[in-house]
Amino acid sequence: MAWWSPTGRRWRRPPHQCPDWCARGHACTAQHGYPGGEHRSAAITVRTAYGVMVCTRVQSIGGRGRLEIRLQVDLDQAEALAEVQAVRVAGEVDRAVRVALATAAGWVDVDELNPLGLAGG
Ligand SMILES: [Zn+2]
Repeated sequence: MAWWSPTGRRWRRPPHQCPDWCARGHACTAQHGYPGGEHRSAAITVRTAYGVMVCTRVQSIGGRGRLEIRLQVDLDQAEALAEVQAVRVAGEVDRAVRVALATAAGWVDVDELNPLGLAGG
């Protein structure tokens, strides 16, 4: 689609093509060219023994990509244990993400890691 300005110059909104993984449709707000628009993949839902994990890949119009992970973890009914579980899960998720990012970038060789701190690792 093209528009004409009062000066007679033709102005055209730059094309915003979706990456192959974008779900398009209502999930994608980048295709309209809005400054805050984002390409979003279809969400992948994984049911696990501990709860549910929902993953969505996102990319801003500027090209900055990220992974959104929504995690539901079932906690124990006993309040004291539930509090410990919540703190531990949050801490271990943070640690796991840091290790995954370091090994994916090649900063650390995964074979050199001993994430659990076990002897002989
Ligand atoms: Zn898109």
